[in-house]
Amino acid sequence: EVTVLRLGHRPGRDERITTHVGLTARALGADRVLLAGAASSRADTVVDITDRFGGPFDVETTDEPKRVVRDFDGTVVHLTMYGEPIQDVERDIRGAHERDPLLVVVGAEKVPFEVYERADYNVGVTNQPHSEIASLAVFLDRLYEGDELGREWEDPEQVVVPMATGKKVVDPEDVEDGA
Ligand code: SAM
Repeated sequence: EVTVLRLGHRPGRDERITTHVGLTARALGADRVLLAGAASSRADTVVDITDRFGGPFDVETTDEPKRVVRDFDGTVVHLTMYGEPIQDVERDIRGAHERDPLLVVVGAEKVPFEVYERADYNVGVTNQPHSEIASLAVFLDRLYEGDELGREWEDPEQVVVPMATGKKVVDPEDVEDGA
């Protein structure tokens, strides 16, 4: 079970980024996003996409993210450019994920040092500065070894029919009928 915790949302500046952390967590196989403090304002958008395109995916909020990290009963992974290279630790983390729940923490602004200390793994997706969305996407894809790409969704209201050119969105019953 994988929970993504979004820390440090700055109102105004981080609205779309936080939404995209939630949507990326959902699309790439996490079970839940936990939005801390001001990031909670983005919950409705992520819930709305889940209602339309399917689940299961939980959106939860917390006012005590530090406590969540500190008390998490499982393995804590903190994505940070200062961490150990993902290619060196991904195998260990996959092993931990088979045994225990995983909490994946991504920041926005400076992440409190307690998170670095509590984390079982501080993981860099390269040691170059980039984005929480990019690092989360690469991390989840390495965690699931690509299996998340073919995932089936439950109870969607609409389904995209992949095509080389053009856009087609249909009622799920039409997909099952082969229409
Ligand atoms: N300067 C901030 C700091 O020192 O924590 C980080 C800002 S960065 C825009 C926001 C988030 O993106 C970070 O908290 C981290 O989760 C993620 N991130 C950025 N680059 C990363 C990298 N190379 N590897 C892993 N995560 C990264």
